[in-house]
Amino acid sequence: MTMREAGRVEEITSTANPRIKAIRALSMKKHREREGLFIAEGLKLAADALEGGWTIRQLIRSKPADTDMELARRIDDIAARSRAQGGDIILANAKVLSAITRRDNAQTVVSVIEQKMAKLSDVKPHKDALWVALDRVRDPGNLGTIIRAADAFGASGIILVGDCTDPFSMEAVRATMGSLFHVPIVTADVDAFQQFSDDWRGKGGNITGTHLEAATDHRSLDYASAPEILLMGNEQQGLPAELVQSCSRLALIAMNGQADSLNLAVATGIMVFAARSHALGPTK
Ligand code: SAM
Repeated sequence: MTMREAGRVEEITSTANPRIKAIRALSMKKHREREGLFIAEGLKLAADALEGGWTIRQLIRSKPADTDMELARRIDDIAARSRAQGGDIILANAKVLSAITRRDNAQTVVSVIEQKMAKLSDVKPHKDALWVALDRVRDPGNLGTIIRAADAFGASGIILVGDCTDPFSMEAVRATMGSLFHVPIVTADVDAFQQFSDDWRGKGGNITGTHLEAATDHRSLDYASAPEILLMGNEQQGLPAELVQSCSRLALIAMNGQADSLNLAVATGIMVFAARSHALGPTK
């Protein structure tokens, strides 16, 4: 095992400090892409990142209230683990943390983490595979919520098809509630996804497109006998014809109220639950 050098510890109390400015710039996608980094707020997400084997480059922490000894102990513990793996520790104040997160009531810990993506070649059609493919998902809250549901129901991962919102934006990361660190994410342009779909179906996998004009009720489908991809359409436009052609079948979530459609994250949650229900054990 290679031993990493412990990270540096620095106290910074000014929002004008260049290191803080560089961290604040990560709220913009172009800076996140250039640096290959992103921001995660809170102690839980820092702990989830370490548990999932992600690398925390910088951990910015403030001092919790003297009365909250348990929180102080947990922050010390995460900071020590992060530093032992080479992450720098920045001792900051509430003003600096609020500037980074752009929130009045910032958390006492913010992490700067290295981005990590899986590849389309990692998406293998083994028997229990269940991937969620999202066509041009635009809303970061929807994407984060979907990643969280995929984690909760034990899906294999997410495929972002076409021009999607960034899974590493602060809003998307926040909505995942830490599931980002447990769910592989792949990106693919439409051509690559279509080629991949041909191969997937050729190897016996299903691609179930969800569509408001589908004739088949999603509850009547078998999801347990073959590798599965659930393909969900864009929030405004639904699935385009070129992606409908990639599907082996189309499914409808029956509705009997007045709404025209379900929110994308709600529809995905229902589909993933249905597709995994054969594998879910009794409630704890
Ligand atoms: N105006 C869009 C349309 O005509 O498809 C609505 C898109 S809907 C908000 C976003 C996606 O959620 C859909 O493309 C579909 O994948 C899924 N969805 C929402 N409600 C659904 C339902 N009742 N049955 C099947 N899929 C649904």
